[in-house]
Amino acid sequence: MSTDSPEAVRPRTGPRPGAPPLPASTEPAPTPPTASASAATPPARPAAPKVPTVLDFYPMETAATTRVAAFFDNLRAGRFTTTRCRKDGTLLWPPRVSCPECHGDDLDWVDLPPNGHVYAFSAVLLGAPLGMESEVPFVVGLVDLDGAPLRLFGRIDGGRWETLRIGDAVHVVPVPLDDGRIFYRFVRDLAGSATGATPPA
Ligand SMILES: [Zn+2]
Repeated sequence: MSTDSPEAVRPRTGPRPGAPPLPASTEPAPTPPTASASAATPPARPAAPKVPTVLDFYPMETAATTRVAAFFDNLRAGRFTTTRCRKDGTLLWPPRVSCPECHGDDLDWVDLPPNGHVYAFSAVLLGAPLGMESEVPFVVGLVDLDGAPLRLFGRIDGGRWETLRIGDAVHVVPVPLDDGRIFYRFVRDLAGSATGATPPA
C-alpha cells in the first residue's frame, strides 16, 4: 500500500484547506511620482546602498557592542588572540565569554600561533558576496594553526589561487578596514609553499 496520498503530492497553489485567511497587506500603497520632481533638475544619483548588517562579514568590534572587543583591540596591537578557560584549560575559538565545557566565565586572553598550514581551500570565482565583487577571484579556506588545536576559517591571500596547494604555509595578518574596524586574514608564506612554486607578489 502506498503511503503517498494525493494530498501529499498535489502542488500547493493557495492556502491549505481550513487554514485561516491571510491577513490583508499592511504595505502602504506606492505614491505616484509628482510632476514637479522631474521638471527642472535631473534626479540626483542615488547613494550607494548600505550593506545590510546580516551580510557584513566583519562584526561589531567595540566594547559597547561586544564582550570580545579585546580580540580586535589585541589584533590592532599586533596580537592574534583568543580565550582559554582558566578552570579546565579549554582553548576556545572564536573567542567567547563563557566556556562550553564547564559553563564558567573565568576566561583568559591568550596569544595564538601566527603561523599555520592550509587544510582546505576554495577559490571564489563567481557570485561573490555583496560588497566583495571587485575582489574576485579570491581564496577562502581552513587553516590548521601550528602548535594549537585549532582549525580556522578565513581569507587566504598571497599569489594566484591556481598555485595555492593544501599544506602551504600561511601566517596571520591584521587587515584594517576603511571604517576603522579590523579583521584578520591569512597570507601565504612566499618561501613556504608545499609545491616550491613562488607565487607572484
Ligand atoms: Zn571551562
